[in-house]
Amino acid sequence: MIFIDALPGRFADRLPGLASLGTVRELTPGFGYSVNLHAELFLGRRPDEVGFFGEYKLDLESLDIHPDLPSRVLGLAESMLPRSTRLGRLLVAKLAGRSHGYIPFAFRHRFSRAGFYPLTTSGVGSILDEFDWEVCVADRVPAGLGRKDRVALERARGAVARGERHLFVSLCDLDGLFHEYGIEHPVVDRKLRVLDREVTALVSRYRARYPDEGFAVISDHGIQRCVGHVDLGLPRLMRRFPRVTFFADSLYLSVWSNDPGELERAREEIGSIRQLRFVDVPERGAYGIASRAFGDLLYVADEGYAIHPNFFGFRRSKAYHGYHPEHPMSRGLLVTNLEVGEAPGHTEVHGMLRAARGGK
Ligand SMILES: [Zn+2]
Repeated sequence: MIFIDALPGRFADRLPGLASLGTVRELTPGFGYSVNLHAELFLGRRPDEVGFFGEYKLDLESLDIHPDLPSRVLGLAESMLPRSTRLGRLLVAKLAGRSHGYIPFAFRHRFSRAGFYPLTTSGVGSILDEFDWEVCVADRVPAGLGRKDRVALERARGAVARGERHLFVSLCDLDGLFHEYGIEHPVVDRKLRVLDREVTALVSRYRARYPDEGFAVISDHGIQRCVGHVDLGLPRLMRRFPRVTFFADSLYLSVWSNDPGELERAREEIGSIRQLRFVDVPERGAYGIASRAFGDLLYVADEGYAIHPNFFGFRRSKAYHGYHPEHPMSRGLLVTNLEVGEAPGHTEVHGMLRAARGGK
């Protein structure tokens, strides 16, 4: 089992070695970023079931608690800082012991970290916990951008040479390189060629040893180049609608309020932002993101656009993932010799992997 973060299904023709190994499918993700898609693939649980959408979670009880005066004053001062001081603001936040990086002062008690990555967190009921694997996870390697995979691949080659039958390899460098360089760049092209060569060789060596054993090469989502950033004017929205709580990261805007009138006015205002798409109730039900904890209102950026500034950070990326799952470039890749449907979703793939290991 080899997992490659952010390898788009649409890139199958750029990976001829990999594509020749078995059945090739585009893999439809759910809404959300890697943290949720990993939970779908490796726990078989969608956001409603796992209890988080993104890495932060709103405490719904906090909606009726209004910020104290110091928080309001600090929040107002913060919202007036020019953008260039964002780095300084982060430093001040760190010095003041504020744990939630960029979440505005006014909302600082409302959110806590909830999301976890099943590949680096044990005891959460993932397929890593459930079955015995020889695990080579690049995500855990302490190395810089683009330098983690080689360590995991080296270990994986050693494991295949030793005859390990149940191998779980996770490669994460491609995701970081896409964000940093975009989807068309010599560094990315080279990375794709290296992945194609090395992963194909690894699987081929494994299959020579265990021809009857199942294998799967899987990615969680694709990637899309960024064509523009959208400034939502969050400080202004926060001043105009003091009884509304906002949370914006790169692609999603969540909005909550216990005041229906104010929520409606905020909704009208946000409705004029062209690059945001409202995710309606039936759609949220279908994708397992219906929980109120994920927003009374939930919006996703149109393909290619990203929200900036946001509560995640001040860096802009050249490419993003997490757009609407129906976008062709949102899809991941699956190459396998296991039985699989025409258009598999993530939880189906979780079932497929478990069945291959004898799970029920
Ligand atoms: Zn990912």
